[in-house]
Amino acid sequence: MLDASLRTQADRFGSENSWTRKNRLARLVTAWILWLVLLGNAAFIIWLWGNGGGISAVKNIATFFTSVGRITGLLSAYLALVQVLLLARLPFLERLLGFDSLTIWHRRNGKAVLYLVLAHVVFITLGYALLDRLSLPNEVSSLLGNYPGMIAATVGTALLILVAISSFVVARAKLPYEAWYAVHLTAYAGIALAWVHQVPTGNEFILRPVATAYWTALYMATWVFLVMFRVAQPIFRAFWHRMRVAEVIVEGPNVVSLRITGQRLDRLGIQAGQFFLWRFLSPGRWWQSHPFSLSEAPAGTSLRITVKASGDFTRQLAGVRPGSMVVAEGPFGVFTDAVRKRERVALIAGGIGITPVRALAEEMRGDVVVIYRAIREEEVVFRAELDQLARDRGVTVHYVIGHHAAPQGERVMSPEHLRELVPDIMDRDIYICGPPGMARFLERNVRAADVPRSHIHIERFAF
Ligand SMILES: Cc1cc2nc3c(=O)[nH]c(=O)nc-3n(C[C@H](O)[C@H](O)[C@H](O)COP(=O)(O)OP(=O)(O)OC[C@H]3O[C@@H](n4cnc5c(N)ncnc54)[C@H](O)[C@@H]3O)c2cc1C
Repeated sequence: MLDASLRTQADRFGSENSWTRKNRLARLVTAWILWLVLLGNAAFIIWLWGNGGGISAVKNIATFFTSVGRITGLLSAYLALVQVLLLARLPFLERLLGFDSLTIWHRRNGKAVLYLVLAHVVFITLGYALLDRLSLPNEVSSLLGNYPGMIAATVGTALLILVAISSFVVARAKLPYEAWYAVHLTAYAGIALAWVHQVPTGNEFILRPVATAYWTALYMATWVFLVMFRVAQPIFRAFWHRMRVAEVIVEGPNVVSLRITGQRLDRLGIQAGQFFLWRFLSPGRWWQSHPFSLSEAPAGTSLRITVKASGDFTRQLAGVRPGSMVVAEGPFGVFTDAVRKRERVALIAGGIGITPVRALAEEMRGDVVVIYRAIREEEVVFRAELDQLARDRGVTVHYVIGHHAAPQGERVMSPEHLRELVPDIMDRDIYICGPPGMARFLERNVRAADVPRSHIHIERFAF
């Protein structure tokens, strides 16, 4: 006879059932509302610009340039605020898109901000130079000397350009993460300086109270959300949950687990597969926060993370003392059972990507297969725990060990190999987790094994 949880599973995956439909509908409605708000504000900004003479004042090439310069400036300011909100940890955005997708949108939107800011600078300078009949260098010096807020705007623009350059793939790969992060923080100063240039001193606003009130409200709302969810909430939670490191366990060469205890952990609303941004309040570590997934399904009494030493911060984690205080922002991520669409699943982990997979294997019901890919036998962690899950819960576990450069190595995790391991792979939901290169490789091969994109869920261990 089916027990209650299995009955729920059977109900959930029966066919296109009401649970899935409701979940999908709620996400769709939220997505539509968000798009409406986003585009509605953009439309209102364009209307304000048009109503303020954006089109009617265009009489010649000079006024055309200044008008284009104004609208690109206004849209760049708007998208810069959206940029802040995308990573302000807004709970409904996190639930809808997940941290991963938000960072992808943040990257795309950042490019749009950069191009619009550059267009604004170029068009305004050209337009004013033609109107004032000055050469470009003379116009630049006149703008800087005679227009209030222009120095602030120039510094703000320089900071935004610096942030954008530091985010280009080549530059980012060369910069230590902490340096990249520090440069990113200056973007907030850049946006504050843009406000000084735009609202109290900008030509668009001086005589237009509606535009001034609207833009002030946009800036204020953004800062309120930012302070609420990036500053106040983590501080409040630190006091509310009082998390501490209870134990540091060596799992294998270069891998440690940290068990974290605290108060009211059951109220965090965690799902297996999610991650937190962890900050350890001990000397030399307190100023950095790093993402780590939970490596156990949440039980309400303690949390466990498992970390592979891969850089400066992770190498030192074995040295964290039990008793150290911890601040955790989260939970984040949609690499959870909630996005599953089919009763049968295959969880594929590359290397340390086993951490959320281990938690999911513990929590998921139904037909679950785990494929654990590691280069060397000694890199395998949780073997005893996975074998226990296999015995107690009927989870099928395949360990795929070996170097891809070894003879026959190119076959390892190929579409054919995946089909051999899981013959019905195309009828399952597939969860993939690992470092970005490995996740990309696995995704490609799973797709080639005929699994539709909509049934593949991925957690990449880098933003
Ligand atoms: C959602 C998610 C879940 C993760 N879960 C785990 C886990 O369970 N176990 C585990 O061992 N690793 C996990 N990682 C990877 C882990 O966060 C990085 O290995 C770690 O932050 C590296 O820091 P470092 O200073 O030791 O290394 P560095 O040499 O400084 O960084 C190595 C790479 O990690 C990334 N990185 C560094 N610091 C951060 C940061 N603060 N935020 C985001 N990315 C950063 C950078 O892209 C960098 O290229 C996860 C990553 C993500 C994005």
